[in-house]
Amino acid sequence: MESDMHAPLFIDGQWIEAQATATVFNPASGEGIGTVSRADAALLDRSLEAARKGFAHWRNVPAHERAAIMRKGCDIIRERAQGIGRILSAEQGKPVAEAVGEVQTSVDNLEWMAEEATRAYGRLLVPRTPGIEQIVRKSPIGPVAAFTPWNFPALTPMRKIGGALAAGCSIILKPSEETPFTAVELVRAFADAGVPAGVINLVFGDSRLISGHLIDSPIIRKITFTGSTAVGKILQARAAQGVKRATMELGGHGPVIVCDDVDVDSAARLAAKSKFRNAGQVCTSPTRFFVQKGVYEPFVEAFTAATKALRIGEGTEDKVDMGPLANERQLKAAESFVADAVAAGARLTTGGKRIGNRGFFHEPTVLADVPDSARIMTEEPFGPVVPFQSFDTLDEALCKANSLPYALAGYVMTRSLSRSARLSEEIEAGMVVVNHFSVSTPYSPFGGMKESGDGLEGGIEGLDAYLVSKTVTTRVA
Ligand code: NAD
Repeated sequence: MESDMHAPLFIDGQWIEAQATATVFNPASGEGIGTVSRADAALLDRSLEAARKGFAHWRNVPAHERAAIMRKGCDIIRERAQGIGRILSAEQGKPVAEAVGEVQTSVDNLEWMAEEATRAYGRLLVPRTPGIEQIVRKSPIGPVAAFTPWNFPALTPMRKIGGALAAGCSIILKPSEETPFTAVELVRAFADAGVPAGVINLVFGDSRLISGHLIDSPIIRKITFTGSTAVGKILQARAAQGVKRATMELGGHGPVIVCDDVDVDSAARLAAKSKFRNAGQVCTSPTRFFVQKGVYEPFVEAFTAATKALRIGEGTEDKVDMGPLANERQLKAAESFVADAVAAGARLTTGGKRIGNRGFFHEPTVLADVPDSARIMTEEPFGPVVPFQSFDTLDEALCKANSLPYALAGYVMTRSLSRSARLSEEIEAGMVVVNHFSVSTPYSPFGGMKESGDGLEGGIEGLDAYLVSKTVTTRVA
């Protein structure tokens, strides 16, 4: 199953082979495991026409019926979760158990949206003129172009498919060409569940060509992108040319403020587990640790011990905590962050180098006393490398935490209610998490501030992102 896979396109209910293909690699071995079709402009035009037709039909399907079809898709994905998780692990690198968990979480998200679809109520206004009735009606915004990255090959597409389908929109999904096979399986499940032709379309190819072509098309009414801030800025600017709504889930560099009243061992263990999930390739990952002076040394020591205990291996091996990095770029980035920080004077307490020369494995790495001048203090690491600094006062910690253009997730560890209240109020972030590291649920809004993004996914806000409000005023008497 995990070699010689192929990812075709899915347009207007048909699986389509493009003439051009690209190779997909297994990051644990560095070897090719299959190919992905690459759409040309003509195939993109077909996907646009399909999305136009799919929208005209799907927007008129009653929300309860849409929800029922979406739930059926979810049931099918749940039944196939083990198989899809193995595919996800093979193309992305994370341990199979984590990959299966991601598939299940993605289904939870979509199911929640399916339910929420039946509650897009709109509202009845209180008119100021007798004989007038005024309502606000919620309608789907229109065909959506969605671009998703390689770090969560199931969860990010499912969040976007969930919002779009629940609202009554059609969608053209362009997942990462580095992890196409999971997306193919998700789309296959929805096709098997009876999602009508044209409602979900799947394309792969040249990212720049596809995003330009789709965003510029008058058929597309909304863009949703998850990926780096650099690419997000380009897509948002392009969307603005057509005054199109753009939801941007971009990079992060999550500060963690650890106060001197914590239980050092348990806090450090919890933090290390969270930091190295998905080998640190998570936009909400806790990535800049600011620890109060009184507990700085013991915290770094306990965090280092927890890091050393992690088991690294191929995703398919049993009892593995962390797999390889997803691609060679991330491996090179990790090596370069470590070299730069050490040259700037950081103290390496564990890790620091690539593991072997097969695949893209890198040791989970802890850097203490990292100066502000090290690149890792300002650039998103997106890998298994974590910098530590100490602080004296909460003012100082907040100043450090809020010093970057990123503002996605922020973390606080303290037993003091007043510290927790102040820090969670003053950290600039779309999500603040106190004394744990679980950032995202189906029912809570997920998104960033500043250059970490614009717009939200998840929660009632996540459905609203695919809806427009129309005011209808009627003289009834
Ligand atoms: P990238 O921004 O080049 O690519 C991220 C995703 O965007 C990929 O799936 C890619 O196919 C797509 N993409 C790239 N250019 C595009 C374009 N012009 N139009 C449409 N889609 C486009 O990032 P990368 O080289 O894969 O990773 C670099 C850094 O980006 C990482 O180190 C990390 O900091 C960040 N990143 C963040 C996330 C996130 O979830 N926020 C995800 C992936 C990468």
